[in-house]
Amino acid sequence: MTLSQKQRIFTINVAKLIVEAYNRGIELTFGEVFRTTEQQLLYVQSGKSKTMNSNHLRRLAVDFNFFINGKLTYDWNDIKPLGEYWETLHPANRWGGDWNKNDIKDGFIDTPHFEMNA
Ligand SMILES: [Zn+2]
Repeated sequence: MTLSQKQRIFTINVAKLIVEAYNRGIELTFGEVFRTTEQQLLYVQSGKSKTMNSNHLRRLAVDFNFFINGKLTYDWNDIKPLGEYWETLHPANRWGGDWNKNDIKDGFIDTPHFEMNA
């Protein structure tokens, strides 16, 4: 599969994720999708990211801001159902709040982040 084909699958799955969020009463605004190598380097240097191999560099990751009852939240427990839903949409999908798909907050937690690791 080409990168472009993966990006198109990722994009339709993001659309499904957005609909699911609103159905659950979670409104969204976008953070980053595409990220340049220069921006990624700044994030690694400042500790906001741990890798220069981010799927944002390939347009295969999105960060969201979440609003419940009009209030901004990044609470792991509030967002976890969306992470679980995301991982049902494609076998390569991962949620940054649960990198290891084990329901445990281990490692670097990135609740806003949804990616296709393909
Ligand atoms: Zn991200």
